[in-house]
Amino acid sequence: MDKNTITVTSPLLPDRAEFELLLKEIWNSKWITNNGSFHQKLEKALAEYLKVPFISLFTNGTLPLLTALQALRITGEVITTPYSFVATTHSIWWNGCRPVFVDIEGETCGIDPDKIEAAITPKTTAIMPVSCYGKPCKMDEIQAIADKYGLKVIHDAAHAFGVEVNGESWAGKGDMASLSFHATKVYNTLEGGALVVKDEATKKRIDFLKNFGFAGETEVVAPGINSKMDEVRAAYGLVNLKHVDEAIEKRHQVAVKYREALRPVPGIRFFDDMPGVRHNYSYFPIFINAEEYGMTRDELYFKLREHGVLGRRYFYPLISTFSTYRSLPSAGAENLPVATRVANEVICLPMHHELSEADLTRILELIVR
Ligand SMILES: *Cc1c(COP(=O)(O)O)cnc(C)c1O
Repeated sequence: MDKNTITVTSPLLPDRAEFELLLKEIWNSKWITNNGSFHQKLEKALAEYLKVPFISLFTNGTLPLLTALQALRITGEVITTPYSFVATTHSIWWNGCRPVFVDIEGETCGIDPDKIEAAITPKTTAIMPVSCYGKPCKMDEIQAIADKYGLKVIHDAAHAFGVEVNGESWAGKGDMASLSFHATKVYNTLEGGALVVKDEATKKRIDFLKNFGFAGETEVVAPGINSKMDEVRAAYGLVNLKHVDEAIEKRHQVAVKYREALRPVPGIRFFDDMPGVRHNYSYFPIFINAEEYGMTRDELYFKLREHGVLGRRYFYPLISTFSTYRSLPSAGAENLPVATRVANEVICLPMHHELSEADLTRILELIVR
């Protein structure tokens, strides 16, 4: 890639010298996977950082979603949002369940609780909301509906690393919450992920399920999968965790500058901070009203590209429009008007800890008019 290209994200990389010291330890011990000491240390460190009771590491952020549905014995229909990364819906499909799409609300781009009840049938067993862009989805309302109908809540918190609401960890919300530590996320372990659970017995079961279902040397209790995080990535994650707060603060400064420059621009909307929320600034989505702005979303997106600024149209197209899902009765655009509109308006601008003043000036000169 041209070195003048500004990418939408840039991975947080751990200090090499510090990482290499840990690599030496791994080489010396020859324990490279299967719940080694770095795996145990990272689980502890993340539970502390995220202020959650129990966490189980995974090899990516998709398998914890799959495993959560399996562990909670979810069957039938699962209510979810079309406005997310495909992995959310895929995890439902992989469990042999039927995704039921419900529209989003504009305030957080999460599933709209006012539209959930109409989608519940006798087959519904769970709701899978997403805290999109790390904005806290309307969990109190979602949980109240789940309680009323006896449904489980599996929270896709892939974007919500480190997010807190009134001092409470957002990664702890839902019966189980899933995190992704992919390279494009605020915190990464190269590839990786985790499942947050509420009690030790559940953690134990999750730990079986991510290791083929082994509950001992000779006992297999369920058709589990292999999704264990290895020692190298756990060590990498331990070093990276030390610098993630700094990176989030740098992202915050970028958000402040974007908002300042874009607030006067007609036809561009963006999110402001929400009261009581510790945001992680994982993404900076803007929403283009073509009529007021004088240019469509795609015209601006391709103009940015032409000038070496790579935004991303997250989340376009909607999951409900992909071939696997488009014939589902809930997948029609008429059922999903807000999600359909937002998907056609959004561009996520470059957002990471290394964006310079010069980068921001270049990006904003292309947008502000
Ligand atoms: C990134 C992401 C995932 C999947 O994570 P991977 O680590 O890439 O498998 C799941 N859900 C959402 C909303 C994501 O953004």
